[in-house]
Amino acid sequence: MLIQLKKVDKIYRDGTVSFQALREVDLSVEEGEMVAVQGRSGAGKSTLLHIIGCVDTFDGGSYLLDGTDIGGLRDGQLSRIRSRTMGFIMQDFALVSKLSVFDNIAVPLYLAGTGMKKIRSAVKAAAAEVGLEGQLDKKAGQLSGGQKQRVAIARAIVNAPRIILADEPTGALDATTAGEIIALLKGQKEKGITILIVTHDNSVAAACQRVIEIRDGRIV
Ligand code: ADP
Repeated sequence: MLIQLKKVDKIYRDGTVSFQALREVDLSVEEGEMVAVQGRSGAGKSTLLHIIGCVDTFDGGSYLLDGTDIGGLRDGQLSRIRSRTMGFIMQDFALVSKLSVFDNIAVPLYLAGTGMKKIRSAVKAAAAEVGLEGQLDKKAGQLSGGQKQRVAIARAIVNAPRIILADEPTGALDATTAGEIIALLKGQKEKGITILIVTHDNSVAAACQRVIEIRDGRIV
């Protein structure tokens, strides 16, 4: 099992106020699965994605990632796991508009200290996978929404991750463009990458093998 959460709790604390966002969440995902996460706003979907992505910590229970106990790790170890294992895709694309497509895709490699020769070949390959050949010198801010999300997918896969975590990846796109983005993600699944997608869109959920629903911090 690639992802195994057992009885995971998440409590946000702010001074004297606390809020339990996840309650005893059990979730197992096998390598190569494509899973949709659905539920109302505030149900805990993003929180779950952040914990799986090792972006946020949790308070109770356990999380084994490919057998590694994530609960006991320090920040440095978590960030290494993030950069080697995870690719993230956000609803608002989270690109740097003034930078080129090339530089946006290369960000994870710059952060990892990868050499320029390797960066050039990895960025070219990732861009080709999402149909952005010939667009590498454009500024990200000049692209359409669908093209921006392609850049974000290329950035998510440039590190050859095992897991892609997508938070409402089609939320800002029209139906046709959303369909293209989901087809690209399915292509990544066919390559064996494990994909979790938070989505309100039932057509996106229908493209996944499995749908899990969260209600008030619990999987139902
Ligand atoms: P969803 O993605 O399903 O909309 P979230 O995981 O973003 O839900 O949030 C779940 C609950 O946790 C919400 O009630 C939200 O207000 C709360 N929450 C999220 N982040 C924080 C935070 N940093 N501090 C306090 N409460 C938070």
